[in-house]
Order: sequence, then structure tokens, then C-alpha cells
Amino acid sequence: MTRRVLVLGGTAEARALAAELAARGLDVTTSLAGRTRHPRLPAGEVRTGGFGGVAGLADALADADVLVDATHPFADTMTEHAAAAASLAGTPLIVLRRPGWTEGPGDRWTRVPSLTAAAAVLPAGARVLLATGRQGVAEFVDVDAWFLVRAIEAPAVLPPRSELLLARGPFALDDERTLLDRHAITVVVAKDSGGATEAKLVAARERSLPVVLVDRPPLPEDVTAVGSVDEVLERL
Ligand code: NAP
Repeated sequence: MTRRVLVLGGTAEARALAAELAARGLDVTTSLAGRTRHPRLPAGEVRTGGFGGVAGLADALADADVLVDATHPFADTMTEHAAAAASLAGTPLIVLRRPGWTEGPGDRWTRVPSLTAAAAVLPAGARVLLATGRQGVAEFVDVDAWFLVRAIEAPAVLPPRSELLLARGPFALDDERTLLDRHAITVVVAKDSGGATEAKLVAARERSLPVVLVDRPPLPEDVTAVGSVDEVLERL
């Protein structure tokens, strides 16, 4: 019987899952990478910091009946490690990936495969809302544009012409509208994270602003994902 669940977290859905598991009386431990100083904490136990690669995670699985990878869709190294470690330890793995966003009427999206590609398609002189998080901002330092860089914590480097906005989503639609207007934003750059942070895309659509959307990295070979906390609970 499944009693002990190790959840690789750092997302809203990992917190929602931990709450459901704890409410069902399961022993749930959520693992956080330790990237943010004041993370939102889930129900149950929490451990923080890397495992030291695949072997370290496989060792940690001695204390778990099931591993749930509920990391962010762009945390692809952790997802690869989870698949390899689960296979090494013989522990069942469930991957939870919230669905990505779908372009609708009025959207002006350009999908790109990477942050590097996003930087390459930005028009000179653009005023950019860079909403891709703290990691990867360095890709944009040579782009001839002005950036409103939004992140939970300050990135190591900023583009030479930029303003830093420290904020944690999800953001209300009205606030996103105000932000785009106040800073006269002409392009939004975002990751196809899916989930509740889509208000910026709606506000961009309303203003007919182009959006450069970075595609998710692929899942490891032979790994399939479920899209919701309910599906994880069904599997368990
Ligand atoms: P990553 O590049 O895929 O992982 C790099 C290394 O960080 C992993 O090899 C692992 O170290 C450690 N790590 C990552 N997630 C971990 C976790 N949940 N528990 C313990 N160790 C973890 O990861 P990332 O993109 O930097 O993301 C780090 C965390 O932030 C993840 O938990 C993710 O859910 C969250 N997050 C990421 C993004 C994003 O855009 N990437 C956005 C929002 C939240 P070891 O090899 O030493 O085990």
C-alpha cells in the first residue's frame, strides 16, 4: 500500500497535491530546490536542496513508496533525474505537468524553442515585459531593447536598459493591464508555463501586443505525464 510519497515540488500544483495527500493521511514529503528565500510551504514534511544528482535521489527513494515529479514544466534537469532515479530504485514515478497554454483568437504569439531564440526574435527598440523568471535573464543582455524584468528574486545580471520588478504571481488581470500600459510595453516574453499566470497573455491579447512564448522542454523518453492533481490521486 502506498504510504510514503515524495513530491518534487516548487509549484502551486505540488502544494495542492501535498495538501490532498496529507488530508488523506499519507506521509507526504515535498522536496524544494531551495532557490527562493521565502517559499510558499506545502502541507506535510518539507526537505530543501538538491539530492546530489540521480544517485542521491535514488538513495532518497529508499524512504518513499512513490515519487511524484510535480516540478515546473521548465525544470527539465530535475525531471530527467526523477525518471532515471525512479528506474534505478525501482520506485513508481508519476509526473504531474499542468497543461500548457493554447493560442486563441486575437493572440499574436510567436513560439520559440528557447530563451536564446526568444532574445533573437525581439525587434530593436522594443519595450519588453520579460516574465520568464530569474534564471535565463542573461540571454537578453545584448538585445537592443528596454526590459521590465519581473522575477520573485533579483537575477544575477540585468540587461543594460531595464527595470527590475520583484513580484510573485499569480497576478490579477487588472494589474497586468496597468503594468503593460504604465510601462508602454510593446512585447511580452513568457514561458509556456501553463496555469494561473496567464493574465499577462490576456492583457497582451486585449492590446494586440505580440507575445514571444518559449516552448516547454520535452519530457524524457518513455515518460508520460498526467495533467492534474486529481489524476495523480487516481493513479495513487
Ligand atoms: P532544474 O534546472 O531542473 O534542476 C537543477 C537541479 O536543482 C536538479 O538537478 C536538482 O539538484 C535541483 N532541484 C531542482 N528541483 C528540485 C526539487 N524540487 N527538489 C530538490 N532539488 C531540486 O530546476 P530549476 O529549473 O532550477 O527549478 C528549481 C525549482 O524551482 C524546481 O523545484 C521547480 O519546480 C521550481 N520552479 C522552476 C521554474 C522554472 O522556470 N524553471 C519556475 C517556477 C518554479 P540535484 O541534481 O542536486 O538533485
